[in-house]
Amino acid sequence: MSVFDSLIDQNETVVILKDAVAAAKNNEDESQNMTHAWLFTGPPGSGRSNTALAFAAALLCPDSGCNSCVNCATALKGTHADVELIRTEGLSIKIDEIRELITRASWTPSVAQYRVVIIEDADRLTESAANALLKAIEEPGLRTVWLLCAPTLSDVLPTIRSRTRNVTLRTPSVEAVTKLLESESFSPQISELSAKASQGHIGRARYLANNPEARTRRTDILKLPLTITDIASAFKCAGLLVDAAKREAEADASTRNDAETSALKEAWGQQGSRVVQGGAKAVKELEKEQKSRQTRMVRDYLDRALLDIATFYRDTLLVQNMDNFQASELINTDMEREIRIVAAGTSPEVTLKKLEAIMKTRTNLARNAAPLLAVEALMVQLR
Ligand SMILES: [Zn+2]
Repeated sequence: MSVFDSLIDQNETVVILKDAVAAAKNNEDESQNMTHAWLFTGPPGSGRSNTALAFAAALLCPDSGCNSCVNCATALKGTHADVELIRTEGLSIKIDEIRELITRASWTPSVAQYRVVIIEDADRLTESAANALLKAIEEPGLRTVWLLCAPTLSDVLPTIRSRTRNVTLRTPSVEAVTKLLESESFSPQISELSAKASQGHIGRARYLANNPEARTRRTDILKLPLTITDIASAFKCAGLLVDAAKREAEADASTRNDAETSALKEAWGQQGSRVVQGGAKAVKELEKEQKSRQTRMVRDYLDRALLDIATFYRDTLLVQNMDNFQASELINTDMEREIRIVAAGTSPEVTLKKLEAIMKTRTNLARNAAPLLAVEALMVQLR
């Protein structure tokens, strides 16, 4: 057993990381296989942070990642005394956070050979935070290892890129994800459907396999554009989609927010409804963070919905461009009938334009466009 066993379809990366661990454990090693700053890139769901955590475990485990000792178990969870895990829920990582992190990173490891710092969303560093981090990476402590994660290289400042070793994860294949789900005792049919629908996003695939309602919601979203006949229905459709995103984000956030707020108030020794002075400020800051998290969740949900809708047009294009296609080649095998109808009613050029419009809307949303306006504009184009 090895901590690297849980990485799906990432054989090249595992070889690189195992070589690095071997070099790190060997004092006489003169290879360049181990370095103190790494950058893991790969599409969402490819397992960037799991890869970083597995690497951390292998560096901290006396057996190079046996997957059964306390070091491995705690490192994989991010709770090992010598692992600093920065996981952001907000839209950005601020300079104060990075400054504190740099201080903690410089402490001598308590039990292991290294202190491993993992920044899950290095693409969310503000510019000043990134510059502060850069200094730490430029003059690293001998026993500190920095592991940064980001979707693509261009999401990270060039100066940081040039001082880190990049490892690119690939999108796990549908076959690999199907096999993984089957090994987790989902039926072959549910496994394949979920793996296809999630397009290599492991977490999403698992979520779909586990939740029949989520699968139904996904199908409902895919069918939304089919209801558009005129401008009015396009706006209605956009409204439905954005409302669904908001509802989902609110439901998800409210339980978490309440728990966080009461834990914080408790920590500050709340008496009745009064919180001591410093506490009130802390609660206010937490509420601000929670608000930005909710904004981000609405955007994330919409982005996923748009990607789902894009798979419908991708299937449509496939049907339009191939004389005899296999139904199994569709992503949405369960919607073959609808796909055929749309394919027969339009041209490949129109489908391509719709796909482009979806991708452009995703970019606009990522650049903070107002969600409702952006989705309305898109739905008009999908008519
Ligand atoms: Zn171990």
